[in-house]
Amino acid sequence: MKHSIIKLESLLNKHEIDSAIITKKSNIRYFSGFTSEDGILLIHSKARYLITDFRYIEQGEIQCPDFQVIDAAGPKTAPFIKETLEKLGAKKVWFEDGVISFRTYLTYNEALKEDIQLIPDQDVISSLRIIKSLEEVNNIRDAAALSDKGFLHILDYIRPGISELDLAIELEFFLRKNGSEGLAFPIIAASGNNGSLPHAEPSNKTIENGEFITFDFGSKIGGYCSDMTRTVSLGEPNDQLRQIYEVTLQAQLNALKAMGPGKTGVEVDKQARDYIQSKGYGEYFGHGLGHGVGLDVHEAPTLSLRGDKMLEPGMVVSCEPGIYLPGKGGVRIEDLVVIKEEGFENLVSSPKELIIL
Ligand code: ZN
Ligand code: ZN
Repeated sequence: MKHSIIKLESLLNKHEIDSAIITKKSNIRYFSGFTSEDGILLIHSKARYLITDFRYIEQGEIQCPDFQVIDAAGPKTAPFIKETLEKLGAKKVWFEDGVISFRTYLTYNEALKEDIQLIPDQDVISSLRIIKSLEEVNNIRDAAALSDKGFLHILDYIRPGISELDLAIELEFFLRKNGSEGLAFPIIAASGNNGSLPHAEPSNKTIENGEFITFDFGSKIGGYCSDMTRTVSLGEPNDQLRQIYEVTLQAQLNALKAMGPGKTGVEVDKQARDYIQSKGYGEYFGHGLGHGVGLDVHEAPTLSLRGDKMLEPGMVVSCEPGIYLPGKGGVRIEDLVVIKEEGFENLVSSPKELIIL
């Protein structure tokens, strides 16, 4: 049986819950191996079901040996859940309250009536994914290595007059042709003034001499994401851009130095934040230092002012300070690390000294 199911069943026991309805796509994949969008898991200590429709029955049977695959999608789902839970003698059922729609909740609640209680899991189910197994880390490591190659590849294409969109498309083509299953998220390729928008969408804007360009992107291998950011300069940057690059880089190195088991997200974030603040750019670093990465590109834990969770071996987190000056440009430098018994392993190996093309 999958290790993830054993972890879930012991968590259910601990919370005195007898069953769980799993609807979040990444959680479905984590517990069952099912890769399609269209399925729901019903998990009880005595039985496990993948509820899907006709199109996915064969796929489900191949991918999910720990589950009975049931053709009961759409309006058949709630009656199937009710009948099954009653047969199993279930009383308390977890559902992912951060995921399920209000309408679906009402449908399930109406079907189950008061005999079986629906209880919000408050993200406890997803939190099982916070510590990665060796196999999970290997997938993320492969995805990060492919992204490193993608970064080297795209450097050859940067020249005056090429657009952000052209660069983003070329990078996506390279990653996918070399084994990435789609992308971890839409590629960010932001140049010049657009660089001050942390999540800018690539546009028709062309890259000109003296501008920074920030690439934030990730590959996907075995369902697992990677995430990295590099900022490079086309021609010589002005003094202020050069300065915010140096400050961001030093902040990133300071945070990495503090990264390791036993530290909280707040403590690591503070290393970068205090340094940027001391250089006068505090108000231009408006987001957290990092986040967990796995089947989802943004998952627990958070490394920010709200990150009170302690880092533990097996967590995979990003480290990505940035400085964004409206109307002038921005810098972000992001690595992805796996926390080890001592310190961490950096999964991103692309250079971080300012590259001037
Ligand atoms: Zn990123
Ligand atoms: Zn990130």
